[in-house]
Amino acid sequence: MKYFSIDELIRSSVASVRGIDNTPQESVVNNLSRLVSMVLDPAREAMGSPITVNSGYRCPELNRAVGGVASSYHLQGRAADLTTGSVAGNRRLMAILGKLPHRELIWERGGRWVHVAI
Ligand SMILES: [Zn+2]
Repeated sequence: MKYFSIDELIRSSVASVRGIDNTPQESVVNNLSRLVSMVLDPAREAMGSPITVNSGYRCPELNRAVGGVASSYHLQGRAADLTTGSVAGNRRLMAILGKLPHRELIWERGGRWVHVAI
């Protein structure tokens, strides 16, 4: 992992505020590591500028708190919500992610962020 840490994929302001323990199991950490090496690091390299993770792993309690669907890949550490800070940048990011491995790639809320899952 070059550009991303497990820590930034499990960090959550909602979890902090509500006192939710979002510590992942080892299988989830393995999935997060794969997500970084297969998708996030290569995407960051291709972008040439920072990508912010809005949401990565969510334990069931956190997923409910943010209104995520029960089948969400976020629960397995297979998904991340990403933003470059602008819709134009996110459009470029979307195009880059389209060429990398993924099972879901979703343009969210008019491009406010991009959801990717492996
Ligand atoms: Zn998502």
